[in-house]
Amino acid sequence: MKQFEGKRFEGRTVVVTGGNKGIGLAIARRFGREGASLVLGSIETTVGEAAEALEAEGVPARGVVCDVTDKAAVKALYDVADEAFGGTDISVQNAGIITIARVEALTEQDWDATMAVNTKGVFLCCQEAIARMRRGGRGRAGKGGRLINTASGQARDGFIYTPHYAASKFGVVGLTQSLAKEVALDAITVNAICPGIIHTDMWDYNDKVWGEMLGDYGPGELMASWVENNVPMKRAGTGEDVAGLVAFLASDDAAYITGQTINVDGGLIMS
Ligand code: NDP
Repeated sequence: MKQFEGKRFEGRTVVVTGGNKGIGLAIARRFGREGASLVLGSIETTVGEAAEALEAEGVPARGVVCDVTDKAAVKALYDVADEAFGGTDISVQNAGIITIARVEALTEQDWDATMAVNTKGVFLCCQEAIARMRRGGRGRAGKGGRLINTASGQARDGFIYTPHYAASKFGVVGLTQSLAKEVALDAITVNAICPGIIHTDMWDYNDKVWGEMLGDYGPGELMASWVENNVPMKRAGTGEDVAGLVAFLASDDAAYITGQTINVDGGLIMS
């Protein structure tokens, strides 16, 4: 079935962290096709290439090297949106990392880095975006906006060997609910999404490391087995599947939805 696509975001600016590849790039492309201007942030310089590729497709885009754990860098990311496009209307907190290890082998560094990117990084971006949305842009006070935070199926059901990742993603749900209540009267909605098994570089890492730890799985075999046994739709998700949900939450149709956490996982988790 063809996805709904219009030009719902013409005249709007979208910031996407982790926008240089994987799910983030698919989200950026979707907004670009629907008329938005884009500011992509990621830790590697490839974010510039991703923005250039979008521009070559006719989508106004900027790429900014930005570590989401660094408050000053996050501020600079939103400064680019202000300077290039007159403000941020929609902010998608998608950057994330994972490591997988048995509990005795899980280092403090694993814990701290994962919480810093996945939870604090989401918070810092929301904080900066909200401050600007409340102040308003383009000469208007309090223009409102949309925040979409990427959690995970592991914000519903922690999986083995990833207590730090599960904690960081449960944290995303908590901060989403709290912020949604605080900004509800400012015409800003804040929602979280929980992707399931989405085939990206991150999943290739999961497949390899969990595969080795959980049994004698070759490349791709763990993912295939989980999809077959646990996903009612019996296919892995794509970045486009996630982008469709993000675009809906950012659209005018979702004006009365806030503080929610929504799964996009082919039915993997139904709570
Ligand atoms: P990828 O590993 O493909 O991409 C991760 C992105 O996050 C990259 O763009 C990376 O940038 C960026 N990033 C990492 N650390 C930082 C940082 N400190 N500052 C800024 N950007 C950073 O992962 P996915 O596309 O699969 O995942 C995207 C999101 O979806 C993550 O939050 C992930 O936890 C979540 N998710 C993914 C699932 C899956 O099955 N794939 C399932 C559930 C949730 P760079 O390339 O520059 O390092």
